Amino acid sequence: MINIILCGAPGCGKGTQSKLIVDKYKLMHLSTGDLLRNEIKSNSDLGKIVESYISNGNFVPDDMIIDILEKTIDNMPKNSEGIILDGFPRTVNQAETLEIMLKNRNTDTDILIDIIVDEEELINRVISRGLTSGRADDNLEIIKKRLEVYHEKTEPVSNFYKNLNKYVSINGMGTIDEIFNRISTVLDNIKQ
Ligand code: AMP
Repeated sequence: MINIILCGAPGCGKGTQSKLIVDKYKLMHLSTGDLLRNEIKSNSDLGKIVESYISNGNFVPDDMIIDILEKTIDNMPKNSEGIILDGFPRTVNQAETLEIMLKNRNTDTDILIDIIVDEEELINRVISRGLTSGRADDNLEIIKKRLEVYHEKTEPVSNFYKNLNKYVSINGMGTIDEIFNRISTVLDNIKQ
């Protein structure tokens, strides 16, 4: 079993790269953003609460997201070769909880891959994605808020995995293929 965390600021390409990783390495893609957007689409009471956080650029509370994630992990196909976590953990508390959750299932995180992209490029990418994504949080005002929340709450997650010797950063500037090649090099080393 191989468990990878793909981390980086909004617009760094986590979603795009996750899909390529899933195809090549046969891992299960677990995007907490997608899970939350599905919850919103289902029009459930939980979805309405979730929407109020996301549309303002805030994080959904830890207990809510951890609950959703745990249920999803437990419903994973048993023959899956591992997980690619996209957008989780986003806080140190989530990271600590994840490691306990994986340990209870006799596994752990292999590596956190941090995709580093210049802030100006992040903003441009999110705004151009907003033209087609229909996402309420892909606009200039909310992306600035999301970047602030990211710096405050998610950057410390890097230190958590650095302390475990499970951190690697890659250059997230360039073409999708160039970035995927950098990620593949990291993953091929882990698989050996
Ligand atoms: P993403 O698609 O990963 O950019 O996530 C979109 C939004 O969903 C984020 O801006 C947060 O509001 C929320 N979200 C996704 N993952 C998490 C998480 N692990 N913890 C808290 N909120 C999350």
